[in-house]
Amino acid sequence: MPTSEEGPPPASDGYDAWVAVCERIADGASLVGLDESMTRLLTTPEKVLEVAVPVRRDDGRIDVFTGWRVHHNTARGPGKGGIRFHPSVTAHEISALAAEMTIKCAVVDIPFGGAKGGVAFDPSSLSLGELERLTRRYTFDIVSLLGPDRDVPAPDVNTDERVMSWVMDTISVLSGRAQPGVVTGKPIAIGGSHGRAGATSQGVTICTRALFDALGLKLAGARCVLQGYGKVGAPLAYLLASLGMRVVAVADVAGAVYNPAGIDPAGLSEHVARTGTVVGFPKADPLGRDEIFDLECELVVPAALGGVINAEVAERLGARVVVEAANGPTTPAADAVLERRGIVVVPDVLANAGGVVVSYFEWAQDRAGYPWEPGVISARLHATMEQAFRATQEKAEALKVSLRRAAVALGLERVAEATRLRGLFP
Ligand code: NAD
Repeated sequence: MPTSEEGPPPASDGYDAWVAVCERIADGASLVGLDESMTRLLTTPEKVLEVAVPVRRDDGRIDVFTGWRVHHNTARGPGKGGIRFHPSVTAHEISALAAEMTIKCAVVDIPFGGAKGGVAFDPSSLSLGELERLTRRYTFDIVSLLGPDRDVPAPDVNTDERVMSWVMDTISVLSGRAQPGVVTGKPIAIGGSHGRAGATSQGVTICTRALFDALGLKLAGARCVLQGYGKVGAPLAYLLASLGMRVVAVADVAGAVYNPAGIDPAGLSEHVARTGTVVGFPKADPLGRDEIFDLECELVVPAALGGVINAEVAERLGARVVVEAANGPTTPAADAVLERRGIVVVPDVLANAGGVVVSYFEWAQDRAGYPWEPGVISARLHATMEQAFRATQEKAEALKVSLRRAAVALGLERVAEATRLRGLFP
């Protein structure tokens, strides 16, 4: 089980997400006066399961990939966290993402702990049949950790509602009963929730509006740069434009496009549906993938992978504020630079929590066997996110620290309270 000093090797690029999250937890714990034992508990995942995932390829060969499921902390409720399929996934990264889920669920005050899972492979290299076999085998391998009262996965990078359907079906078949509440982000026809698909992006938009209000910035005409055009980034282009902002640049893994007058979200969406990438969008100029961060703008929304805003990028970042749709996009070293430069950051554990909030609503609907109206979901999402933003802002003012340090402190305080109330077994 990794602690901040030991465990499996970090990612090969030198950035270690687990070390970064442990630094942030240690800082948050000290801000709210948690003692050394509690800090140690919070920087040690409860469970780390590593599994070999053998897959029969279409040509008869067998490939073996490595997968993980991590429970970071379940003091406040069942583990909650996505499943990521990506070649760069490591035990450290999954542990870090699980810890962020613990904090995130506490910040938005929903009754879940933190978990995360992943398999290290490139999904584009597998056929649909191979992907289904891999998903089902991985689910079987980690099933002892899963269940509506134990740990409830959801989509993350390169997983979607189709993958969630396979996870749910595998567990239902293995247990001999319908188990809709074992996974969220499912299609509505099999127990999914209205509003889940765009919920993370909605939450980012709610936080953006709240931050602009707090800073006295005008939304109308404000320039926005978006990194990532997937499940979170694509709806965001629409939502930010609907606030009156100008989305001036969008990047995906293949490259970026730029139009200072604002990119038409519907046109870009059609182009990506046709070609699979933002690159080549005719009503914008091409731009280097990482040059987007140099652009002068009011808002940058990273909605791709972790560690992309490092100290070097932070020094040249042209934005006034950052709203983190991705998990862990800013390194601790970059945080210090952004703070020095007066660039305000709404941290991931608050900004992208809309997805897990509606996942909680989905889980509640599945357990009750009674779906909610779309309007109810939207109203409750807005109320939950606005309340979490206010609570974080008040904590930041009380502690005189950044929104990130305040959010981590607020989340950890709630997790520590639950841990103390439950006591230690035996
Ligand atoms: P996704 O796989 O649907 O999309 C990822 C996007 O990032 C793609 O457009 C891809 O091309 C792009 N990308 C990858 N590498 C890039 C690079 N180096 N430069 C620019 N673009 C790059 O994933 P998603 O579900 O949209 O998740 C994006 C981020 O949001 C992740 O960090 C994820 O953990 C986080 N997140 C997702 C959810 C959710 O509900 N899906 C919830 C909370 C947080």
